[in-house]
Amino acid sequence: MAYLTLKNINKIYPNGFHAVHNFNLEIEKGEFIVFVGPSGCGKSTTLRMIAGLEDISSGEFLINGVRANEKGPREREVAMVFQSYALYPQMTVFDNIAFGLTLQGVDEDVIEQRVKKTAQILGLTDYLDRLPRALSGGQRQRVAIGRAIIRKVGVFLMDEPLSNLDAKQRVTMRYEIAQIHRETGATTIYVTHDQTEAMTLADRIVVMKDGYVQQIGTPYELYFKPANVFVAGFIGEPPMNFIRDTVTGGCVKFGDTRLDLSERLRRIGDYEGREIVVGFRPEAIQLGRHADAYVMTCDVELTEMLGDNTNVYIAAGDAHAILKVDSHDTPETDMPITFSIPYGSVYLFDGETEKVIG
Ligand code: ATP
Repeated sequence: MAYLTLKNINKIYPNGFHAVHNFNLEIEKGEFIVFVGPSGCGKSTTLRMIAGLEDISSGEFLINGVRANEKGPREREVAMVFQSYALYPQMTVFDNIAFGLTLQGVDEDVIEQRVKKTAQILGLTDYLDRLPRALSGGQRQRVAIGRAIIRKVGVFLMDEPLSNLDAKQRVTMRYEIAQIHRETGATTIYVTHDQTEAMTLADRIVVMKDGYVQQIGTPYELYFKPANVFVAGFIGEPPMNFIRDTVTGGCVKFGDTRLDLSERLRRIGDYEGREIVVGFRPEAIQLGRHADAYVMTCDVELTEMLGDNTNVYIAAGDAHAILKVDSHDTPETDMPITFSIPYGSVYLFDGETEKVIG
Protein backbone atom coordinates (compact mmCIF):
# COMPACT_ATOMS: atom_id res chain seq x y z
CA MET A 1 0.00 0.00 0.00
CA ALA A 2 1.25 3.49 -0.84
CA TYR A 3 2.26 5.72 2.05
CA LEU A 4 0.42 8.79 0.74
CA THR A 5 -2.45 8.63 -1.73
CA LEU A 6 -4.08 11.55 -3.50
CA LYS A 7 -7.28 10.42 -5.21
CA ASN A 8 -9.12 12.73 -7.59
CA ILE A 9 -8.15 15.77 -5.54
CA ASN A 10 -9.73 19.07 -6.56
CA LYS A 11 -9.34 22.54 -5.16
CA ILE A 12 -11.95 25.20 -5.77
CA TYR A 13 -11.20 28.40 -3.88
CA PRO A 14 -14.10 30.29 -2.22
CA ASN A 15 -14.08 32.80 -5.11
CA GLY A 16 -14.93 29.89 -7.45
CA PHE A 17 -11.46 29.53 -8.99
CA HIS A 18 -10.72 25.88 -9.80
CA ALA A 19 -6.99 25.72 -8.98
CA VAL A 20 -6.39 21.93 -9.00
CA HIS A 21 -8.20 19.38 -11.18
CA ASN A 22 -8.43 15.63 -10.47
CA PHE A 23 -4.95 15.23 -9.03
CA ASN A 24 -4.02 11.54 -8.64
CA LEU A 25 -0.76 10.31 -7.14
CA GLU A 26 0.53 7.49 -4.96
CA ILE A 27 3.72 8.18 -3.02
CA GLU A 28 5.86 5.44 -1.49
CA LYS A 29 7.68 5.85 1.81
CA GLY A 30 11.06 7.52 1.33
CA GLU A 31 10.31 8.88 -2.13
CA PHE A 32 11.46 12.34 -3.17
CA ILE A 33 8.62 13.81 -5.21
CA VAL A 34 8.89 17.16 -6.96
CA PHE A 35 5.93 19.22 -8.18
CA VAL A 36 7.11 21.43 -11.01
CA GLY A 37 5.38 23.83 -13.37
CA PRO A 38 5.01 27.49 -14.23
CA SER A 39 3.76 30.08 -11.77
CA GLY A 40 0.11 29.62 -10.86
CA CYS A 41 -0.19 25.98 -11.99
CA GLY A 42 -1.37 24.78 -8.57
CA LYS A 43 1.82 23.35 -7.03
CA SER A 44 1.63 25.22 -3.73
CA THR A 45 -2.11 24.68 -3.47
CA THR A 46 -1.61 20.91 -3.78
CA LEU A 47 1.22 20.96 -1.24
CA ARG A 48 -0.87 22.98 1.18
CA MET A 49 -3.75 20.52 0.85
CA ILE A 50 -1.32 17.72 1.75
CA ALA A 51 -0.05 19.78 4.70
CA GLY A 52 -3.57 20.37 5.96
CA LEU A 53 -3.23 24.14 5.54
CA GLU A 54 -5.87 24.24 2.81
CA ASP A 55 -9.19 22.34 2.62
CA ILE A 56 -9.58 19.68 -0.05
CA SER A 57 -12.68 20.59 -2.09
CA SER A 58 -13.27 17.06 -3.34
CA GLY A 59 -11.36 13.79 -3.55
CA GLU A 60 -9.49 11.88 -0.88
CA PHE A 61 -6.11 12.21 0.78
CA LEU A 62 -4.97 9.01 2.52
CA ILE A 63 -2.03 8.40 4.84
CA ASN A 64 -1.20 4.68 5.05
CA GLY A 65 -4.57 3.97 3.49
CA VAL A 66 -6.51 5.97 6.09
CA ARG A 67 -8.50 9.03 5.07
CA ALA A 68 -6.78 12.17 6.35
CA ASN A 69 -8.84 14.96 4.70
CA GLU A 70 -10.22 16.07 8.06
CA LYS A 71 -6.97 15.76 10.02
CA GLY A 72 -5.19 18.93 11.15
CA PRO A 73 -1.58 19.66 10.17
CA ARG A 74 -0.16 18.26 13.43
CA GLU A 75 -2.02 14.96 13.21
CA ARG A 76 -0.67 14.43 9.69
CA GLU A 77 2.92 14.23 10.94
CA VAL A 78 4.25 16.61 8.32
CA ALA A 79 6.83 19.39 8.59
CA MET A 80 6.87 22.23 6.12
CA VAL A 81 9.77 24.39 4.95
CA PHE A 82 8.72 27.66 3.35
CA GLN A 83 10.41 29.90 0.84
CA SER A 84 10.42 32.72 3.40
CA TYR A 85 12.28 30.58 6.03
CA ALA A 86 9.82 31.83 8.71
CA LEU A 87 12.47 31.90 11.46
CA TYR A 88 11.90 33.64 14.79
CA PRO A 89 14.21 36.68 14.58
CA GLN A 90 14.67 37.10 18.34
CA MET A 91 15.64 33.44 18.88
CA THR A 92 19.09 31.94 18.39
CA VAL A 93 19.72 29.26 15.79
CA PHE A 94 19.65 26.70 18.61
CA ASP A 95 16.24 27.85 19.84
CA ASN A 96 14.84 28.10 16.32
CA ILE A 97 15.83 24.53 15.58
CA ALA A 98 14.64 23.35 18.98
CA PHE A 99 11.33 25.19 18.83
CA GLY A 100 9.06 22.30 17.78
CA LEU A 101 10.52 19.98 20.40
CA THR A 102 10.30 22.63 23.12
CA LEU A 103 6.60 23.07 22.31
CA GLN A 104 6.11 19.34 22.64
CA GLY A 105 7.72 19.47 26.10
CA VAL A 106 10.58 17.18 25.14
CA ASP A 107 13.27 16.70 27.80
CA GLU A 108 16.02 19.35 27.67
CA ASP A 109 18.85 16.84 27.43
CA VAL A 110 17.16 15.14 24.51
CA ILE A 111 16.58 18.50 22.81
CA GLU A 112 20.23 19.44 23.19
CA GLN A 113 21.37 16.13 21.78
CA ARG A 114 19.01 16.32 18.81
CA VAL A 115 19.74 19.98 18.01
CA LYS A 116 23.46 19.21 18.00
CA LYS A 117 23.00 16.21 15.74
CA THR A 118 20.78 18.24 13.37
CA ALA A 119 23.25 21.14 13.36
CA GLN A 120 26.00 18.69 12.50
CA ILE A 121 24.09 17.30 9.51
CA LEU A 122 23.46 20.85 8.28
CA GLY A 123 26.89 22.33 9.01
CA LEU A 124 25.45 24.76 11.57
CA THR A 125 27.42 23.69 14.65
CA ASP A 126 29.40 26.94 14.78
CA TYR A 127 26.32 29.12 14.43
CA LEU A 128 24.05 27.82 17.18
CA ASP A 129 24.37 30.97 19.33
CA ARG A 130 23.71 33.41 16.50
CA LEU A 131 20.49 35.23 15.68
CA PRO A 132 19.04 34.69 12.18
CA ARG A 133 19.94 38.23 11.09
CA ALA A 134 23.62 37.33 11.48
CA LEU A 135 23.34 34.48 8.96
CA SER A 136 23.52 34.32 5.17
CA GLY A 137 20.44 33.35 3.17
CA GLY A 138 21.76 29.82 2.72
CA GLN A 139 22.45 29.42 6.43
CA ARG A 140 18.96 30.69 7.29
CA GLN A 141 17.43 28.19 4.93
CA ARG A 142 19.46 25.44 6.60
CA VAL A 143 18.05 26.49 9.97
CA ALA A 144 14.55 26.29 8.49
CA ILE A 145 15.31 22.81 7.20
CA GLY A 146 16.82 21.88 10.57
CA ARG A 147 13.64 22.92 12.32
CA ALA A 148 11.71 20.58 10.04
CA ILE A 149 14.00 17.54 10.11
CA ILE A 150 14.51 17.58 13.89
CA ARG A 151 10.87 16.67 14.36
CA LYS A 152 11.37 13.29 12.69
CA VAL A 153 7.97 13.48 11.04
CA GLY A 154 6.80 11.21 8.26
CA VAL A 155 6.80 13.77 5.47
CA PHE A 156 8.76 16.91 4.62
CA LEU A 157 6.98 19.44 2.50
CA MET A 158 9.16 22.09 0.90
CA ASP A 159 7.73 25.05 -0.98
CA GLU A 160 10.39 26.66 -3.19
CA PRO A 161 12.94 26.53 -0.36
CA LEU A 162 15.81 27.81 -2.51
CA SER A 163 14.15 30.65 -4.35
CA ASN A 164 15.57 33.38 -2.09
CA LEU A 165 19.15 32.24 -2.63
CA ASP A 166 21.61 33.32 -5.28
CA ALA A 167 22.58 30.96 -8.10
CA LYS A 168 25.68 29.58 -6.37
CA GLN A 169 23.96 29.02 -3.04
CA ARG A 170 21.13 27.25 -4.80
CA VAL A 171 23.51 24.71 -6.26
CA THR A 172 25.13 24.10 -2.87
CA MET A 173 21.81 23.82 -1.05
CA ARG A 174 20.41 21.55 -3.74
CA TYR A 175 23.27 19.18 -3.09
CA GLU A 176 22.72 19.44 0.65
CA ILE A 177 19.01 18.74 0.36
CA ALA A 178 19.82 15.62 -1.65
CA GLN A 179 22.32 14.58 1.05
CA ILE A 180 19.83 15.20 3.85
CA HIS A 181 17.28 13.10 2.02
CA ARG A 182 19.81 10.32 1.63
CA GLU A 183 20.65 10.48 5.35
CA THR A 184 17.13 10.78 6.73
CA GLY A 185 15.34 8.71 4.08
CA ALA A 186 12.28 10.85 4.76
CA THR A 187 9.44 11.09 2.30
CA THR A 188 9.74 14.52 0.73
CA ILE A 189 7.45 16.57 -1.47
CA TYR A 190 9.19 19.54 -2.97
CA VAL A 191 7.69 22.38 -4.98
CA THR A 192 9.69 24.36 -7.51
CA HIS A 193 9.32 26.06 -10.86
CA ASP A 194 12.96 25.27 -11.63
CA GLN A 195 13.33 22.25 -13.86
CA THR A 196 16.99 21.75 -12.94
CA GLU A 197 16.05 21.40 -9.27
CA ALA A 198 13.28 19.01 -10.24
CA MET A 199 15.53 16.87 -12.44
CA THR A 200 18.42 16.67 -9.98
CA LEU A 201 16.46 16.03 -6.77
CA ALA A 202 13.45 13.95 -7.73
CA ASP A 203 12.82 10.25 -7.72
CA ARG A 204 9.63 11.19 -9.55
CA ILE A 205 8.44 14.50 -10.94
CA VAL A 206 4.87 15.70 -11.29
CA VAL A 207 4.62 18.28 -14.07
CA MET A 208 1.63 20.61 -13.72
CA LYS A 209 0.05 23.25 -15.90
CA ASP A 210 -3.09 25.30 -15.28
CA GLY A 211 -4.13 23.04 -12.39
CA TYR A 212 -3.82 19.82 -14.41
CA VAL A 213 -1.18 17.12 -14.06
CA GLN A 214 0.60 16.82 -17.39
CA GLN A 215 2.82 13.84 -16.62
CA ILE A 216 4.25 11.91 -13.68
CA GLY A 217 7.54 10.11 -14.14
CA THR A 218 11.21 9.76 -13.31
CA PRO A 219 13.52 12.50 -14.62
CA TYR A 220 14.64 10.02 -17.30
CA GLU A 221 11.07 9.33 -18.43
CA LEU A 222 10.18 13.00 -18.62
CA TYR A 223 13.25 13.84 -20.65
CA PHE A 224 13.16 10.88 -23.05
CA LYS A 225 9.45 10.11 -23.12
CA PRO A 226 7.55 13.36 -22.72
CA ALA A 227 3.80 12.83 -22.89
CA ASN A 228 3.00 16.09 -24.66
CA VAL A 229 4.37 19.29 -26.14
CA PHE A 230 4.22 21.10 -22.81
CA VAL A 231 6.36 18.58 -20.92
CA ALA A 232 8.75 18.24 -23.88
CA GLY A 233 9.25 22.01 -23.89
CA PHE A 234 9.43 22.38 -20.11
CA ILE A 235 12.07 19.75 -19.37
CA GLY A 236 15.44 20.38 -21.00
CA GLU A 237 17.56 23.49 -21.40
CA PRO A 238 17.54 25.06 -23.96
CA PRO A 239 14.01 23.76 -24.57
CA MET A 240 13.13 21.26 -27.29
CA ASN A 241 12.73 22.78 -30.77
CA PHE A 242 9.29 22.43 -32.32
CA ILE A 243 8.24 22.54 -35.96
CA ARG A 244 4.47 22.95 -36.32
CA ASP A 245 3.15 22.28 -39.80
CA THR A 246 0.41 20.62 -41.82
CA VAL A 247 1.49 17.26 -43.19
CA THR A 248 1.63 17.48 -46.98
CA GLY A 249 2.69 14.49 -49.04
CA GLY A 250 3.91 12.88 -45.82
CA CYS A 251 6.26 15.81 -45.16
CA VAL A 252 6.53 18.92 -43.02
CA LYS A 253 8.71 21.88 -43.82
CA PHE A 254 11.40 23.65 -41.82
CA GLY A 255 12.23 26.65 -43.99
CA ASP A 256 12.87 25.09 -47.38
CA THR A 257 13.82 21.68 -46.01
CA ARG A 258 11.20 18.97 -46.25
CA LEU A 259 11.23 16.40 -43.48
CA ASP A 260 9.77 13.19 -44.80
CA LEU A 261 7.69 11.62 -42.04
CA SER A 262 5.80 9.20 -44.27
CA GLU A 263 7.61 6.10 -43.00
CA ARG A 264 6.82 6.89 -39.37
CA LEU A 265 3.33 8.15 -40.06
CA ARG A 266 2.50 4.89 -41.85
CA ARG A 267 2.80 3.17 -38.48
CA ILE A 268 1.07 5.94 -36.51
CA GLY A 269 -1.97 6.88 -38.54
CA ASP A 270 -3.18 9.12 -41.33
CA TYR A 271 -1.99 12.63 -40.65
CA GLU A 272 -2.13 13.85 -44.24
CA GLY A 273 -3.62 17.39 -44.24
CA ARG A 274 -3.53 17.53 -40.43
CA GLU A 275 -1.30 19.57 -38.22
CA ILE A 276 1.60 17.88 -36.50
CA VAL A 277 4.35 19.08 -34.18
CA VAL A 278 7.84 17.73 -34.76
CA GLY A 279 10.23 18.08 -31.82
CA PHE A 280 13.99 17.68 -31.52
CA ARG A 281 16.28 18.58 -28.68
CA PRO A 282 19.07 21.12 -29.25
CA GLU A 283 21.60 18.60 -27.90
CA ALA A 284 20.34 15.71 -30.05
CA ILE A 285 21.79 17.03 -33.31
CA GLN A 286 25.09 16.12 -34.94
CA LEU A 287 27.04 18.55 -37.04
CA GLY A 288 27.52 17.60 -40.69
CA ARG A 289 25.76 14.94 -42.76
CA HIS A 290 24.96 11.61 -41.17
CA ALA A 291 23.00 8.54 -42.19
CA ASP A 292 19.56 7.73 -40.75
CA ALA A 293 18.93 11.39 -39.99
CA TYR A 294 17.21 14.48 -41.35
CA VAL A 295 19.92 16.71 -42.79
CA MET A 296 19.36 20.47 -42.81
CA THR A 297 21.32 23.51 -43.81
CA CYS A 298 20.40 26.76 -42.07
CA ASP A 299 21.88 30.17 -41.33
CA VAL A 300 23.56 30.85 -38.02
CA GLU A 301 22.03 33.97 -36.46
CA LEU A 302 23.76 34.04 -33.10
CA THR A 303 25.96 31.93 -30.88
CA GLU A 304 26.11 31.87 -27.07
CA MET A 305 29.27 30.39 -25.64
CA LEU A 306 28.45 28.84 -22.24
CA GLY A 307 31.72 27.12 -21.44
CA ASP A 308 31.96 23.55 -22.65
CA ASN A 309 29.03 23.99 -25.00
CA THR A 310 27.57 26.72 -27.17
CA ASN A 311 23.97 27.49 -28.08
CA VAL A 312 23.60 28.14 -31.79
CA TYR A 313 20.50 30.05 -32.94
CA ILE A 314 19.62 29.11 -36.48
CA ALA A 315 17.05 30.29 -38.98
CA ALA A 316 15.66 29.02 -42.26
CA GLY A 317 13.14 31.51 -43.64
CA ASP A 318 10.63 32.09 -40.83
CA ALA A 319 11.66 28.94 -39.01
CA HIS A 320 13.94 29.18 -35.99
CA ALA A 321 15.67 26.66 -33.74
CA ILE A 322 18.48 26.31 -31.23
CA LEU A 323 21.29 23.78 -31.49
CA LYS A 324 23.69 22.87 -28.73
CA VAL A 325 27.20 22.11 -29.91
CA ASP A 326 30.59 21.47 -28.39
CA SER A 327 32.23 24.90 -28.00
CA HIS A 328 35.19 23.71 -30.07
CA ASP A 329 32.75 23.36 -32.98
CA THR A 330 31.18 26.81 -32.65
CA PRO A 331 30.18 27.94 -36.15
CA GLU A 332 30.58 31.41 -37.65
CA THR A 333 27.65 33.79 -37.41
CA ASP A 334 25.82 34.61 -40.68
CA MET A 335 27.25 31.48 -42.30
CA PRO A 336 25.32 28.36 -43.23
CA ILE A 337 25.54 25.33 -40.99
CA THR A 338 24.70 21.75 -41.92
CA PHE A 339 23.51 19.38 -39.24
CA SER A 340 21.68 16.08 -38.84
CA ILE A 341 18.81 15.12 -36.56
CA PRO A 342 18.91 11.34 -36.07
CA TYR A 343 15.52 9.79 -36.86
CA GLY A 344 15.49 8.25 -33.39
CA SER A 345 15.72 11.69 -31.75
CA VAL A 346 12.65 13.12 -33.46
CA TYR A 347 9.42 13.37 -31.46
CA LEU A 348 6.00 13.67 -33.04
CA PHE A 349 2.99 15.27 -31.38
CA ASP A 350 -0.59 15.62 -32.55
CA GLY A 351 -1.09 19.27 -33.58
CA GLU A 352 -4.54 19.41 -32.00
CA THR A 353 -4.23 17.46 -28.73
CA GLU A 354 -0.47 18.15 -28.44
CA LYS A 355 -0.07 14.58 -27.14
CA VAL A 356 2.88 12.49 -28.23
CA ILE A 357 2.11 10.08 -31.07
CA GLY A 358 3.90 6.92 -32.13
P1 ATP B 1 3.87 29.84 -7.81
O1 ATP B 1 4.99 29.09 -8.46
O2 ATP B 1 3.70 31.22 -8.37
O3 ATP B 1 3.89 29.80 -6.32
P2 ATP B 1 1.85 27.74 -7.85
O4 ATP B 1 1.94 26.77 -8.95
O5 ATP B 1 2.34 27.31 -6.52
O6 ATP B 1 2.50 29.11 -8.29
P3 ATP B 1 -0.65 28.22 -6.51
O7 ATP B 1 -0.12 29.16 -5.49
O8 ATP B 1 -0.99 26.85 -6.08
O9 ATP B 1 0.32 28.17 -7.78
O10 ATP B 1 -1.93 28.91 -7.16
C1 ATP B 1 -2.69 28.24 -8.17
C2 ATP B 1 -3.77 29.18 -8.66
O11 ATP B 1 -4.72 29.40 -7.63
C3 ATP B 1 -3.25 30.54 -9.08
O12 ATP B 1 -3.93 30.95 -10.24
C4 ATP B 1 -3.60 31.42 -7.90
O13 ATP B 1 -3.84 32.76 -8.31
C5 ATP B 1 -4.88 30.79 -7.39
N1 ATP B 1 -5.05 30.99 -5.95
C6 ATP B 1 -4.14 30.75 -4.97
N2 ATP B 1 -4.66 31.05 -3.75
C7 ATP B 1 -5.91 31.48 -3.98
C8 ATP B 1 -6.98 31.93 -3.13
N3 ATP B 1 -6.83 31.97 -1.81
N4 ATP B 1 -8.14 32.30 -3.71
C9 ATP B 1 -8.30 32.24 -5.06
N5 ATP B 1 -7.35 31.82 -5.90
C10 ATP B 1 -6.17 31.44 -5.38
